[in-house]
Order: sequence, then structure tokens, then C-alpha cells
Amino acid sequence: MTTADFNALAQLLPPDRIVTTPERLESLSRDFYWYSPVLKRELSDKLAEVVVQPHSRAEVVALVSFTHQRRIPLTLRGAGTGNYGQCIPTHGGMVMDLAALDTIHSIGPDGIVTCDPAARLGAIERVARQSGWELRCYPSTYVKASVAGFCAGGSGGIGSIQWGALRENGTVHSLTVLSLEAQPREVRLSGPEIFQVLHAWGTNGIIIEVELRLAPKTDWGQLAVAFDDFAGAFDFAEAISRNDSFRKRLATVFEWPIPGAFTPLQKWIPEGKALCFFEVADDQLQRLADAARNAGGNPCFIAPFSEPRRGAQLSDYTWNHTTLWALKQDPSLTYLQCGFSATEARSQFRALKSRFGADFLLHIEFVRSGGVITPGAIPVVRYTDDERLQAMIEFCGSIGVSVANPHVNFLEASGRWRPDDAKRRAKELYDPRGLLNPGKMRDFTPEPIPAPAPAEATGERLPRVRSQTVPA
Ligand code: FAD
Repeated sequence: MTTADFNALAQLLPPDRIVTTPERLESLSRDFYWYSPVLKRELSDKLAEVVVQPHSRAEVVALVSFTHQRRIPLTLRGAGTGNYGQCIPTHGGMVMDLAALDTIHSIGPDGIVTCDPAARLGAIERVARQSGWELRCYPSTYVKASVAGFCAGGSGGIGSIQWGALRENGTVHSLTVLSLEAQPREVRLSGPEIFQVLHAWGTNGIIIEVELRLAPKTDWGQLAVAFDDFAGAFDFAEAISRNDSFRKRLATVFEWPIPGAFTPLQKWIPEGKALCFFEVADDQLQRLADAARNAGGNPCFIAPFSEPRRGAQLSDYTWNHTTLWALKQDPSLTYLQCGFSATEARSQFRALKSRFGADFLLHIEFVRSGGVITPGAIPVVRYTDDERLQAMIEFCGSIGVSVANPHVNFLEASGRWRPDDAKRRAKELYDPRGLLNPGKMRDFTPEPIPAPAPAEATGERLPRVRSQTVPA
């Protein structure tokens, strides 16, 4: 960005909302990308040249026009809790921190919540519960994570055992996006149109409003059950997951020693055991504990429903929080994101354990996928080098275990690229210059760049900023 760019930007926002100090630029250019040793190596020098903090939709529109006019790369930021470098500006330019746009506008009688892009999922859950509703699914980072960041970067979480992934069952009712054009357009996408921008990492439109379908609220109780071995824990969790007479929000299984890293839970967790974590309807908690005993398990932690939530929350150790706890204990660990077969999972586990042993630790999250209860997984794996990590991914593929690779920083290789090409076509429509989060969607060619106008070509460069070009 040139001095002329910075001068023009100063006309759009007050100085305290134009961030250029190195420490703040660094913290607002980062997410949890360091979960991956590969991304840590590739992305740690990537920084925004400026971070802007709009407080209104009108300011967002003005900033979007500005980046279009001056061909400045623009990367959107919700809460920065993604763990794939999704919101890291690999081509510099501007990061737009949307955190202040966090209003929850309404919850309709049909259970549809309408909110600004950076409404916190935790706040939505709290407000929804006050009117008899709750989120259908949410990531374990829900306290901080923004609703648009979840739609653009997340996939599912607590609740997905009942409602499936975020992309399923109409959970995302609509997304309103702003195009990156000279005159930004507002486009409301609903039904199958949402797949144009859902999980597109903010590469093809700025989400400025989200409508989510909620579920009627349930009072959830929590139960942890210890088993002597992983097989017993998996059998029990699978049976409960498939038993529709239990209303569930969470069914997780951990191989030992993963639970040994859950430091705050140690007084409840027996050494050396595999664990199941459940959230079930509070009035079914005792029935579940009895079923666990009958299956040879030890219900080692029972917490009836309380509101507001008090004490240990088992969900704080599930989904990708499991990886965080494991990493805190052993920084040489990392993770994969796998989908096991609903029918062949046991033989797939055996094959993986015999090939990689303790370097591939099983962490299962049961989810409903296309209506079928399926063992999703975020295994904790030991990183030695890129080749061995790749060997794990390839071995998974060879035995029918799907992998959404969390060690790559572009959409097409990350495992959730849909074959219908809708995201790329949406980018042509809403970001023809290819300025949004450049580098993250590779299957796209931006419109040709005309020769710069003389004023732009001679713009003086600020001394501390690296020169940036719009990606080809
Ligand atoms: P950010 O990290 O700020 O952004 C994510 C992506 O969305 C980026 O590409 C960004 O550019 C884009 N984006 C942000 N705002 C907009 C906008 N307004 N318009 C368009 N694009 C936008 N994810 C899950 O799905 N399930 C989990 O259970 C889960 N658990 C996690 C646990 C831990 C410990 C960590 C570190 C991460 C976890 N994640 C999980 C990933 C992440 O926390 C969630 O996906 C979260 O919803 C991201 O929200 P955010 O506001 O932090 O998004």
C-alpha cells in the first residue's frame, strides 16, 4: 500500500480504528494456524499492512469500494479462532476486523436468528435460550467465535450428532454477502445458493448478515465414562449415538493417553483408561449412567444441567479443543481431520494402530452425516516430518478413511471443495479482481489488471511495508 492509499484511508475511519502498530498488526493477522507445523513454517511471516475496524455496514461498504478502487488485497477477520490460517493475509494488504459488527437482530417465532457477521456464537446461544431456542451446532470455540467466521471457516461441532454439519438440514438459512466491486452489491443467498460462500474462507464475498435455524432448547446434562480399552468405549459410544431414544448433543471417544492432557479434569479421570464424553438430555442422565455400568464402564463424572453453566464443561475438551490440550502437553503433536466408515471403522482403527501405533491416537466425534451416524475423528498424531504426515494421510485414503487436510492453506486441497464449482463461479461474480483473501482459492483467474494510472504508479511507498502485488 502506498502513502496515497494510507492518506485516502484516513478519510474513511478515525485513526484509532486504522491499526498499523507492529504488535497489533501481528496479533490481528493470526489465527491458530500454529496447530499445524507445516502451516507454522509457511505462514508465520505473513502480515497485513493495515487492519481496519469498521463499526457499521456503511463503513464496511466504503472500505470495500476503497480496496476495489486501489486493488488492495482484503482479508476478513471474525474472531481469528480458525486453525488453518484461513484469515492470515498471505498477500499482505488490508485485514478487515469485523468484531464490532456483533448485533443479534431478532429471533423469529420460526426459530430463525438474524445477526450481524461478528455476533459471537456464545452470545447467540445465550440469547436464544432466553426465548426457548438454542444453536443446532457450534464449535468448541463458541464463546469467542463469530457467526460469519463459523459459516466461512467452520464445519460443525457440538450438536452435529443430532443436526449434522453446519452445511446440512438448512441450518444456515441465509447469508447476505457484499460483493467486492466499485459499487458493492448486497446479495442474499438462501437454500442451495448458500454453498457458493459457505466454507469458502471469505474468498468470494463479505458476509454481512447471517440467518441460522435454531433448535428448541434442551436442558443438557454431562457424563464421562471410563472403559478399560478403546474398543469398549467406542462400542458403547456408538450404541448410544445410534439409539434415538437418547437426545444428545455430544458423543466423543478418546484413546488413552489423550485424556491425560485434560489437566483440570484430572481428579475425575482414571489413569490409563479410554473415555467417552456425552451431553444428553438432563432427564436421561441417570439412564445413560446405568447403561454405561451395564456395558462395563465407570461413570466417572456426572454433572446435571445448570444455567448459567457452572463447573467443568466436558465440551471444552472435545472437537478441536482436544488438540489444543494435547499440544499444550506435547508440542510435537498435531492433528488430522478424518471420516471413518460407519460400518468398517473397527478394521480401519486396527489398520491405523498397527501401522502407526502411539503416533496416531484416536479421538472420535460421532456426527450425523446425511442422516447416518458416523464416526468423525480428529486424531492426535505425532509430527516427525512432512513425509510421515503425508504417509499418514495417504494410508488413511488407502483404507477408506477420508481426510480433510488441515495442513494446507488453500481451499481446493483442504478436503471440503465441492465438485459443483459454485464457489469459483461466485468468486467471478462477487470478487472479479480476486482481491478477497488472495491465494486461498487457486482454481480462479482474476480479471486482467490494466496498467496503473500515473498517480498510482508513482505513489510513494511507506518504508516499513513490503511491496505487495495482486496475485495472478
Ligand atoms: P475467523 O478465524 O476469524 O475466520 C475464519 C474464516 O472466515 C477466514 O477465512 C475469514 O477470512 C472468514 N471470515 C470471517 N468473517 C467473515 C465474513 N464476515 N465474511 C466472509 N468471510 C469471513 N471449527 C469447527 O467447525 N468446529 C469446532 O468444533 C472447532 N473447534 C475448534 C477448537 C479450537 C481450540 C480452535 C482453535 C478452532 C476450532 N475450530 C472449530 C475452528 C474455528 O474456531 C471455528 O471454525 C470458528 O467458528 C471460526 O470463527 P472465527 O470468528 O474465529 O473465524
